[in-house]
Amino acid sequence: MAVNSDGTKFLINPRWQHFSTAKASQLVLVDANDLGTMDRDDAPDPSAWSIHSAIHRFVPQGRAVLHLHPKYATVLASLKDPEIKPIDQTTARFYKRVAIDLSFGGIANEELEGERIAKSIGHHNTVMMGNHGVTTLAPTLAEAYDNMYYLERASRTLVLAYQTGQPLNLINDNLAEQTAKDWQVYKGAEFAHFEEMKRILDKEDPSYKD
Ligand SMILES: [Zn+2]
Repeated sequence: MAVNSDGTKFLINPRWQHFSTAKASQLVLVDANDLGTMDRDDAPDPSAWSIHSAIHRFVPQGRAVLHLHPKYATVLASLKDPEIKPIDQTTARFYKRVAIDLSFGGIANEELEGERIAKSIGHHNTVMMGNHGVTTLAPTLAEAYDNMYYLERASRTLVLAYQTGQPLNLINDNLAEQTAKDWQVYKGAEFAHFEEMKRILDKEDPSYKD
């Protein structure tokens, strides 16, 4: 999550610590332009650094950047055709709105792979990374989180539909486009979703705030 106006200084999760135990005070503040970052004692994971620093340098809309290898989205990312086909209202949310990168170059532990990934994003907020995983980016964490949540839900629906072996009943282009646009009516729900998840965490284990 970027913390300065040009987006180059950002907070990142501590290296190799389970997401569920990471606390606010343990997030590491780094500078995307600081070439000495990986020499620090608290250096982030090398591939996290490669991907996140490149996006914070090259993609202005990416103030909050989430990169994961979730089960269903990663299955989809490893298919020859990783496009999210519109077969219900959740899959249609992503209709023609995903950057697809099919040039996987190995684990992103060098600057070049991160830069290549960053440059494949264009104006998009969702990236399907072939043979790898997914990334969402947004001006706020709430929007990036909500997008990641629905991306995995859409991928689950499509993967399960493929598994039936039956032909997909594709929603036609016009209706898919209209459905994707209609999601914008629920923009407020993205922020409510994030607040609700925090409320659940507050109940279950508020130590994330420490
Ligand atoms: Zn990855």
